Order: sequence, then structure tokens, then C-alpha cells
Amino acid sequence: MMPPPAASLTPSSPSGLDAVEHEIAHACRDARRDRAEVTLVAVSKTFDADAIKPVIAQGQRVFGENRVQEAKGKWPELTAATPGIALHLIGPLQSNKVKEAVALFDTIHSVDRDSLCEALSKEFSRQPRRPELFVQINTGEEPQKAGIAPADADAFIARCRETYGLAITGLMCIPPVDETPAPHFALTAKIAARNGLTKLSMGMSADFATAIAFGATHVRVGSAIFGTRPKPV
Ligand SMILES: *Cc1c(COP(=O)(O)O)cnc(C)c1O
Repeated sequence: MMPPPAASLTPSSPSGLDAVEHEIAHACRDARRDRAEVTLVAVSKTFDADAIKPVIAQGQRVFGENRVQEAKGKWPELTAATPGIALHLIGPLQSNKVKEAVALFDTIHSVDRDSLCEALSKEFSRQPRRPELFVQINTGEEPQKAGIAPADADAFIARCRETYGLAITGLMCIPPVDETPAPHFALTAKIAARNGLTKLSMGMSADFATAIAFGATHVRVGSAIFGTRPKPV
């Protein structure tokens, strides 16, 4: 059997970031929004340090990873070399990885259950770091996908705040792959607004311009910057 190609062999086009930045600027103009309202989270999952370094060299400072172990393996060296890098966890977080996640990440987009809230709350009593927290909404109510069902969102956000003492600042969603994303972005924005949340993590390579039109403050863009991943993750 042939070994799978290493992610580093996928060329990270220096123009990938430029093209995404160009499209973000365009989408902001169309939506009459300030470019500064939108944070580009460059999703570097599956790509190794050698693929990430050119993107850091181009000035990108905010990166997203979906696995704690993978991030722990490649990021400490990169963040030590370049001050000012912010790391975002965009994938599901297991309770037994909370300690490492709190130590490593600046923002966690995937708060999705009471047991995780409890683990985060406990960890905050042990270490001084306080990553910013977003609640993930399963807008398509897909059984295989993480996130809180839209109907349970208000009560869950209230429990995060009141029961667990967590400062939630935003919501995240991943629309179903086979549906038009706009209604999912609109629903997420509506839930955020009625809960006093100002941040919206929505939009990926295929739909970040639409997400910006619907108020995204964080777009999570991977393949459009780094190239095609060797396998879907
Ligand atoms: C992989 C991933 C992305 C980026 O996907 P692309 O289509 O490569 O831009 C965004 N959000 C989450 C949660 C992901 O897992």
C-alpha cells in the first residue's frame, strides 16, 4: 500500500491567503461592513509547520485547529518563534483534553454540552488562562454533528453563564454540506442577537462571503488558503 501523501507536499500557494483576503474585503464592502469586524481564522489542520510558516510570513496571525493533540504537536514551536499568534480550537473538545486546550488555545469555538462546561469551569479554577468561548449550534440538527439544537440554545447559553460561570461571547455553526448555508447563518445570527452575543463564527472556504453578508465576525478558512487537504477531516 502506498503511504498517504504528507500534507507538507501539498503546495501552500502564496496567493491563497491573498485571494481570500481580497474576497473578504469585497464581501465587507458589499455588506457595508468594516474589514476590521471580520477575523480570518486560517484553518491549518492536517498541515505541518513547513506549510504554515509561509502563511505566518505573509502576516497571518490567527489560526484554527480541530484537534488538541495535533495542535500541541506543531504550534508551541511556531508561537515561540512569532509573537502575537492566536490559536482557535474549532473542533469538538473532549473533557479529558480541556486542561491542554485551555493552556494552548485563545478561543474555543465548540462549547456544546454541560459536561464540557463543567470541565472548563473546573479548569478555570486551576489555571489563570481564559480562552474566549463560543457555543456551537447544530443548525441543521444533524445527528452526527456536534452542537446544541437551536431550540435548546437559549437555555444552554443561560446555563453556561449562570450554572457554570462561563463568559460566552459568540456562536459557531457548520451548515450541512448539502444545503444552502444562508438560512443556517441567519438562524445562528438570530439566536446570538436574542442572547446578547456579538460574535459569529461562520463561513468556510466555500461560503465565507455569504457568511460575512449574514454578520460573521470569524470566518474559518482552510483549503482556500492552504490547498486541498490529503483527506477530509
Ligand atoms: C476544516 C474546518 C474548516 C475549514 O474548512 P475549509 O472548507 O477547508 O475552509 C472550518 N471549520 C471547521 C469546524 C473545520 O473543521
